Amino acid sequence: MSGFRHAPPPRAVAGLLSVPVMIDQITAAFQIDGSTKSASATAQMAFTVGPHDGHPVFDLRQTISSATLDGVSVPPAGIAHHDFDGGPDAQMRVLERWLTAGTSHVLALSYSLGTPASPNARGLVWEAESSRLSFDFFMSDLNPARYLEAWLPSTALWDRFPVTLEVQMAGAPAHVLLSNGAVTGLGASHWSISFPASFAPCSHFLIIAAADRITQHSAATVLPGGLAVTIDVATRNSDGIDLVAGAAAIAGHLAANTTGTGPCRHGGRHTALLTAPGYHNMEYDAATTTANSALAHEVFHSWWARGLVPAQGQDGWLDEAWTTYMTGTPGAVPLDTSDPAVTMWPGNPWARRTPTWTLVTPRDARPGSRVTPDLLQRNARGSIVGGVSVTAELTERKPKTKRKATRATPARSLTTRRTRS
Ligand SMILES: [Zn+2]
Repeated sequence: MSGFRHAPPPRAVAGLLSVPVMIDQITAAFQIDGSTKSASATAQMAFTVGPHDGHPVFDLRQTISSATLDGVSVPPAGIAHHDFDGGPDAQMRVLERWLTAGTSHVLALSYSLGTPASPNARGLVWEAESSRLSFDFFMSDLNPARYLEAWLPSTALWDRFPVTLEVQMAGAPAHVLLSNGAVTGLGASHWSISFPASFAPCSHFLIIAAADRITQHSAATVLPGGLAVTIDVATRNSDGIDLVAGAAAIAGHLAANTTGTGPCRHGGRHTALLTAPGYHNMEYDAATTTANSALAHEVFHSWWARGLVPAQGQDGWLDEAWTTYMTGTPGAVPLDTSDPAVTMWPGNPWARRTPTWTLVTPRDARPGSRVTPDLLQRNARGSIVGGVSVTAELTERKPKTKRKATRATPARSLTTRRTRS
């Protein structure tokens, strides 16, 4: 069970010995009704228990109305959230059924699809005077519970599994669906999306928009080394983005990253929703939702963050600092090396957000000020020093440990521990 290498150890929570599981397959369907502006979901989570007997741990940030385990009814109260001390909003669901190590099961869930019970989440956004929908998986690493678990049952970053999702809309004008999965049209506003087994819970890009509210463009490029790539870009008409220029900019970044880091592990397609500033910048596997100001940053993340993926939520600071440094955020300010070290890796496998932390910098903050990740990223030059808990201090020079990390195989998980080897 090498797949459990980065999973948290078993833990007793609320009298339940909770154990990690590995998802084998998610099969789900969303039914979206424009006439009532509502949606419902069914999902089957096929999973295998890890090397310990116990109660399975997973997450879903929707309200479960009914559930079965291997065909036997389970009351929703027996799949409740419990606090694993991962910080605010980082609770996980525990299934109150004792299962034997190594056995495989199917948990089937029904729920109405609404705004995820996750911080700063975005629900289904309907136009006021019509049944036009704007839907976005809207993932985030700056908040807990904003990956796949916002919409579908999921484990955490250390897991990989295939997802097949059917989406059907009724009572609405024509809509389009954009995704980094393989999309098959099954009819008008009716799709099947297949996400590959290599995807982590942070990988999935999915947008639904009314067909007359969005413009799409497709371009082709050939990367250094000969890989042919299709670049599919889209923008909301209200944002007025130049898609030809956007696709060309993405092609340039893909070529530069291929030369600078190596071949992209995601193959021959890259997808982007290009937006006006102020919506939401986020990286996915060979996909992004971003304003132009963050385009280079988000495309770089397809190598660092969604190529080499954080092993746990607490490791996200590393790809963020590295991406910010390598994409040349203006205004980076080196810190005084006599400043105290800053703890970036809390050593908590249940932590689920890129942390904020206290740092001392002469130009941007008073000693002891609380600094947001954004401010730190603008200042980050992440030098890693070893220790019982890994700490980082910010220096002007590229650290040797980071140079070592750049030679890591992009298909492998990234954990802070690895950079110390
Ligand atoms: Zn980033």
